[in-house]
Amino acid sequence: MKFLLCLLTACAVAQAANYDLLIRNARVLDGAGNPWFHADIGVRGGKIAAIGGLGTGATAERVIDAAGRTASPGFIDVHTHIEGVVEKIPRGDNYLLDGVTTVITGNCGGSKVKLSEWFAGLEKLGLGLNIGTLIGHNSVRREVMGTANRKATPEEILKMQEMVEQAMREGAVGFSTGLIYIPGTYSETSEVVALAKAAAKYGGTYASHMRDEGENIVAAINEAVLAGKEAGMPVQISHFKIDNRRLWGGSIKSLALVEKFRAEGVDVVIDQYPYDHSSTTLGITLPSWALADGEAAIKERLSSPVTRARIKREMLRMLVQKGQLNYAYAIVASYSPERQLEGKTISQINRLRKRLPTPANEAETILEIMRKGDAQMVYHSMSMLDVDRIMKYPHTAIASDGGVREFGLGMPHPRSYGTNARVHAEFVRKRKLVPLEEAIRRMTSLPARTFHLRDRGLLHEGMAADILLFDPAKVQDKATYQAPHAFTEGFDFVLVNGVTMVEDGKLTGGRGGRILRHDSSN
Ligand SMILES: [Zn+2]
Repeated sequence: MKFLLCLLTACAVAQAANYDLLIRNARVLDGAGNPWFHADIGVRGGKIAAIGGLGTGATAERVIDAAGRTASPGFIDVHTHIEGVVEKIPRGDNYLLDGVTTVITGNCGGSKVKLSEWFAGLEKLGLGLNIGTLIGHNSVRREVMGTANRKATPEEILKMQEMVEQAMREGAVGFSTGLIYIPGTYSETSEVVALAKAAAKYGGTYASHMRDEGENIVAAINEAVLAGKEAGMPVQISHFKIDNRRLWGGSIKSLALVEKFRAEGVDVVIDQYPYDHSSTTLGITLPSWALADGEAAIKERLSSPVTRARIKREMLRMLVQKGQLNYAYAIVASYSPERQLEGKTISQINRLRKRLPTPANEAETILEIMRKGDAQMVYHSMSMLDVDRIMKYPHTAIASDGGVREFGLGMPHPRSYGTNARVHAEFVRKRKLVPLEEAIRRMTSLPARTFHLRDRGLLHEGMAADILLFDPAKVQDKATYQAPHAFTEGFDFVLVNGVTMVEDGKLTGGRGGRILRHDSSN
């Protein structure tokens, strides 16, 4: 009898021992936060067919000896802004080389609205990354109300809810807000909750760029978790930080508040990019009322001396509130009307325009720039003490808040290129703030769980074959503020849905990515 069983077992192994790809002898970090273990990984049909000691009988079209290298799930970046560029670079090179195999986009309230159309276009191009999207509050509000500076009527809320529901049916993974931006900043909390609830009906997650990341952060966190409380949906607080110089150190309090809500049973998690510079528009240095009602209205305000003076007064008050003496902390990242400004601070541009270096003159310089359109900026606004503390918090996912980049264009924040490698090199390896297996968990299973990506984020049988191979000692981000266009080195093998995307650290040209449509039954 014993003999027969053995025979049957051998027979079963022999039958299963046929894979598209077999990774031998890897040190597996499974994404759940477990310590590494040695295993072989068999990939078949784009999925992980087997993981463990697969024996010498296992065969495959291709065998990779991963001895000495670590295997982990591909990273899931839950906070990106890829719209507009992914159409030009559908492979998403900067992300693949940083170990990212899945991105969630449509964050901070800005997304595509007609998702089916957008998805179909992207699928036709052939993708490098798996892409899921949120439906953005600002985009929906703009469709219904333009940039009107007022609260929505009940009819307008209904219309916006319908749009959110439609997007959810088309596969959005949830709802996002950007409550510092036009026009979402004109909304009341009840509007945000009503729209989040529309997404919750379909099992969506709420991702919030909060109304404030400084002085009023407590109220902002309370507002963000309200949707979680009222609709029972997961809440992801985006790019968690203290971006006010006067309040540096405040992450002790803000993290304690998140923890308090978790203890009460609210499913709230946060994400972070591992840098002390932020990146957003130049427009956020202006009072929000100045940017309402479209181009013509903005121009009219700026050409009225009285209104212009009032805008400047408020800008200077906002500057003082932020604990800044001048606008030297604000660096132009991307500004297509005048590319020569890219890489320069507002203070430098002000001097180039032969003005005395006063904050009032610098505010004038900002208004001049804004006349030709908003600029993308990098702001030195955080303290590394807060960055470190947030990094150590176990419910912090790693996310870039970046986008697909056209190599060499502009002076963008380096986070689009180097977020994950920087966590590996700086926070895990050099400063030992986070153990490797924990960092991997925050890049994989934690974000997968929050966004209901049930077949990703873990190296387990049956999961999608999004797999990285790397030597943890060699992973290194190369992008800096001064020279941001530099690909990460070290994630030398990247598999997306079983397709080899990176081999020996080089892009293969493969297209393994796909659109991840949220399944409402999840
Ligand atoms: Zn944001």
